Amino acid sequence: MAEKPDLLDMTLEELERIFVSLDEKPFRARQLFKWLHKGTTSFEQMTDLPATLIEKLNSGYRIERLVTLERLASSDKRTVKYLYLLSDNNIIECVSMQYPYGTTLCLSTQVGCRMGCSFCASTTGGLVRNLTAGEMLAQVLAADDDLAEHNKPSINGLVLMGCGEPLDNYDNVLKFIKLVHNPLGLNIGYRNITLSTCGLVPKMYTLADEGLNINLAVSLHAPYDSIRREIMKIAHAYSVAEVISAARYYFDKTGRRVTFEYALISGTNDKPEHAEELCRLLRGFPCHVNVIPLNEVKHLSRKRSSEDRIKTFISILQSKGINVTRRREMGLDINGACGQLKAAYLEKERG
Ligand code: SAH
Repeated sequence: MAEKPDLLDMTLEELERIFVSLDEKPFRARQLFKWLHKGTTSFEQMTDLPATLIEKLNSGYRIERLVTLERLASSDKRTVKYLYLLSDNNIIECVSMQYPYGTTLCLSTQVGCRMGCSFCASTTGGLVRNLTAGEMLAQVLAADDDLAEHNKPSINGLVLMGCGEPLDNYDNVLKFIKLVHNPLGLNIGYRNITLSTCGLVPKMYTLADEGLNINLAVSLHAPYDSIRREIMKIAHAYSVAEVISAARYYFDKTGRRVTFEYALISGTNDKPEHAEELCRLLRGFPCHVNVIPLNEVKHLSRKRSSEDRIKTFISILQSKGINVTRRREMGLDINGACGQLKAAYLEKERG
């Protein structure tokens, strides 16, 4: 028998249509939507819904509920990594990061990933499947639940930078962003949402034309096509120039500043000459560069650049007036990089 439809995966309009088909008033859909987005996982707790409706919902529908397999807090307790089990037994991970102004959740958009970046742990087993919008929302609700339990500020920002390539699961990701933005639900502002892509150029244009003011992060990681192709499979499909043009289009359309992510890999993309070329490429583009010292991943050969190299790289960018920050390495002690916790967990399970 096919699994019952997940109500978390539905927009308010979709819920209203279901309620009409169930011979219920559409305003009930608003009541349900509010409960669902508060993290209520059983119909019985929805105290303003009549018993007859609860019965109908129970027999035909379900609410996705993630089971926490692991919860790892960093030593300063501000970064917490969660490993969740989905209802089909797939495993996903996400990370909450507490800042002075609230908590940001880094969440996954796919089980696995088919982009094949050579330094990334999430891609090693390829793509298993896309996550639904409801499963992305379930990550936010589960993490929020845990934060409340630990008296931490609730989630007010999202970064789609966990496992998976968000633009490779475009429709579900967009649906999710609209769901969490809904004022009846979590009411998270578009400006507090950042989507990170390895550079699926056509989809970057589509996203720019949606009229959502979300932030865009682009994983560039190299100023030359030759180097980018060596470390990222997607670079065979789109050139550095095409990726940067799409990012410029995104900025022109939305007015949101674009961030370029640049992971420094020893001996590959970390030379002063690479920093110079990056400056040349970005000249006149009011963007931001986020330099990430590589998180070394077990079984992958790429190594992190030396501290000297990292500092020199950053100072060259600064000297050319590029807005640059070094990514704060939160949660290194808890397998902070994408896909690492799951890999460590599976290894432990296999014994
Ligand atoms: N697929 C998307 C989002 C997921 S990865 C993307 O590529 O942007 C989020 C960021 O972490 C990307 O910039 C990615 O390149 C980077 N990343 C992946 N593995 C890393 C590692 N081992 N060390 C440092 N950064 C890494």
